[in-house]
Amino acid sequence: RQVIMNEDPRSLVKRPPVVTILGHVDHGKTTLLDAIRHSNVASGEAGGITQHIGAYQVEHHNQLITFLDTPGHAAFTAMRARGAQGADIVVLVVAANDGVMPQTREAIAHAKAARVPIIVALNKVDRPDSNPDFVKRQLAENGLVPDEWDGDTMIVPVSAKQKMGIEDLLEAILLVSDSMDIRANPNGKVLGTVIEAQVEKAKGVIATLLVQNGSLEMGDIIVAGTSMGRIRAMFDYRNRKLRKAGPSMPVLVMGLSDVPAAGDIFQVYKNDREARAVVEERKTQAQNRQAAVPKA
Ligand code: GDP
Repeated sequence: RQVIMNEDPRSLVKRPPVVTILGHVDHGKTTLLDAIRHSNVASGEAGGITQHIGAYQVEHHNQLITFLDTPGHAAFTAMRARGAQGADIVVLVVAANDGVMPQTREAIAHAKAARVPIIVALNKVDRPDSNPDFVKRQLAENGLVPDEWDGDTMIVPVSAKQKMGIEDLLEAILLVSDSMDIRANPNGKVLGTVIEAQVEKAKGVIATLLVQNGSLEMGDIIVAGTSMGRIRAMFDYRNRKLRKAGPSMPVLVMGLSDVPAAGDIFQVYKNDREARAVVEERKTQAQNRQAAVPKA
């Protein structure tokens, strides 16, 4: 949405929603991401993942949903700080036995500031000490009024551990995404966001990128922050080789010179010279900013 500028509205087509999972520590983000992944990773191929990639897609009713698999706030906050919001929808995990906690409030504040709709996954409903009604009241007090109380927040009871309610959650995500205008131009300017990146022995820099507009292709020259390079290998979340990746696709790429930061925007440039000029310009700007900081 936000990063797409200057695209002819007629060129925009529907793309999968990008979902990020937030919530208080120990409320079940990691377990839920695993449960979703195993419920439905687009047409199977379990166990094929040898390289960790910070995002995946599932298919529900023939529609894809992209999940950012980066529990914790780091990537989301970094994206927001850079004005590059990668996520269309936030799934807020709240443990039904524990209720609204400080990081729950923080996540609500982040999502509201970024104007990203929230779906609540009311987790751990299998626990005998869970108290869904109490938690719903707490959520309402924090501005998330359940739709069953005439509010506009969908609250989906789940048990990530017992893999219950996962289909309902996917259903809710598609409902919300259908009510939004989630589109991009697959033939437009190629850009997106860095989800995560690191250096690995023998492989060099490995980055998970989320394509947000256009289609990223093997051999493309990209710049992300002050890192640049030609894409010499590209994989999907099942570690399958890819030649091309369209909007909302998470991909793992090799070929960058340095490690970009999570939340950096990447763009494709026509040639090496143009890319290098952009990087030099950014490095100079960064140096100037540093020079302007008064010494303590
Ligand atoms: P995170 O810190 O939010 O990523 O939370 P985790 O996914 O690591 O879960 C924290 C703990 O809660 C782990 O011991 C999980 O096994 C447990 N847990 C997660 N989901 C459920 C659930 O649906 N029911 C129960 N009973 N325990 C859960």
